[in-house]
Amino acid sequence: MNTIIDAHAHCGIIDRSMPQSFEDYRSQIQGSGIEAVVMFSPVMEIYDRHRPNFEDNAKRQLRRKISNEYLLTIGNSDFKVIPYFFIWNDFAVDQIKPQHKGIKWHRHPHEPVYHYDDPKCKKGIDEIKRRNMPVVLEEEFENTLYFINELAVGVKVIIPHLGLLNGGYYAFVEKGIWDNPNVYADTALASSRDIKDYIENFGHDRILFGSDFPFGDPNEELCKILDLSISVEKKEMILGLNLKRLLKHSNI
Ligand SMILES: [Zn+2]
Repeated sequence: MNTIIDAHAHCGIIDRSMPQSFEDYRSQIQGSGIEAVVMFSPVMEIYDRHRPNFEDNAKRQLRRKISNEYLLTIGNSDFKVIPYFFIWNDFAVDQIKPQHKGIKWHRHPHEPVYHYDDPKCKKGIDEIKRRNMPVVLEEEFENTLYFINELAVGVKVIIPHLGLLNGGYYAFVEKGIWDNPNVYADTALASSRDIKDYIENFGHDRILFGSDFPFGDPNEELCKILDLSISVEKKEMILGLNLKRLLKHSNI
């Protein structure tokens, strides 16, 4: 088996409302075979998700910076951490470091909105494009479509949970989004049924195994892929090779 990489986990240093430290992750995946992980900050270290009218402030900006930078300091040669930069409304792309391999872009309904019409947003996306970094995009359905079809055309987008929290897997089937060669999916918390349907209809080279730790259990999420009745070669692609191929092209 090639390296198994979890393409979706949260890890933080400030928000202790859940067991989501690096040590928590390591102890939970013991014996699973997972050898590397993509990590991004917990949402509460980035913005106040419980206050829809929340506007940014200096304290929050500092908290975000600390959180994003923390992920650059963890992991080692026998367990690799691949940090993604969690971007918010200051679109602080100047804080992106060479170790950041992707971008996390996240918002649920009733949470503070991304300022899509701010010129800084456009500039941020230009920088992401220049660096060829993939974006894990968790947003409302209409905003997801807007991002992919208008705002960030050409940017590689990973829709997490096979679309479960972006409006639903089948809503994207109907819009032809999974056919777009720049659109990837991760399997975190998705149903086995949707994973099978995706592979049958859209292939196995743009789908990535992910756990959504601490909301998902990496072992259970891994079993969903191992239990699929597809070839070992295809499983290896989903479990790590697709992600490796995707990140190889980022020119940081
Ligand atoms: Zn997540």
